[in-house]
Amino acid sequence: MTFSIGTMMQNSLKDIENVIFPQICRYCDTNLKQKEIYICYECISNVPHTEMGDWRNIVTSSEHIDFAISAFWYDDLLNDCVHKSKYNGYQKLLRIISKYAAEIIQNDLIPLNIDLLIPVPLHSTRKRERGFNQAQIISESFSNYYKIPSDSKILKRNSWTDSQTSMNISERKENISNVFKLHNKPEKHTIAVIDDVLTTGATSNECCRILKEGGAEKVGVITLATPKLRKNG
Ligand SMILES: [Zn+2]
Repeated sequence: MTFSIGTMMQNSLKDIENVIFPQICRYCDTNLKQKEIYICYECISNVPHTEMGDWRNIVTSSEHIDFAISAFWYDDLLNDCVHKSKYNGYQKLLRIISKYAAEIIQNDLIPLNIDLLIPVPLHSTRKRERGFNQAQIISESFSNYYKIPSDSKILKRNSWTDSQTSMNISERKENISNVFKLHNKPEKHTIAVIDDVLTTGATSNECCRILKEGGAEKVGVITLATPKLRKNG
């Protein structure tokens, strides 16, 4: 292992900064340890797990989805962390949560024999504005954990979509149709489409449809979380 003078200085400065301004967990006020950011591991470990296994049968839009796995219930704490990780410097938070999610759902994934992960693409303009695609960070974290490749070049986003929050299920389907296109053929893979939150499944369903059109054998979705209270649409 090698240390550059720059890295050593950076670490020393960070240590001094932590003594003067201790980093505190947003939720329980304990001092954060060196590898923690924004929230401590203890609080992350208290986010409730769905323990639903494959819940494809109750996803509202699921015609093209072969499996659906979500690690956590999307509670206030997770919502806060997912939003926080959109800011520069907080992507590490998303990596920490993703690694934890990967650990708790790994037994659900074994029978699926997934051999490729594909993050739900963000429009390139939005990606430029934000600097990164959250789904890609989650997908890369899963890829590191499971040793399954993640490919963000197969699926591309064609156009802008309006925010789906206030739409019903048919409006969401209409909004999302023809938004994605294949950049490369996915070949005969078993693919997991990766996203942060699964609600009605309209976006994931469309990604699965396009990937199957391109030759994928089996396509499902894995998300960090799903909301507990489900509305129809
Ligand atoms: Zn805490």
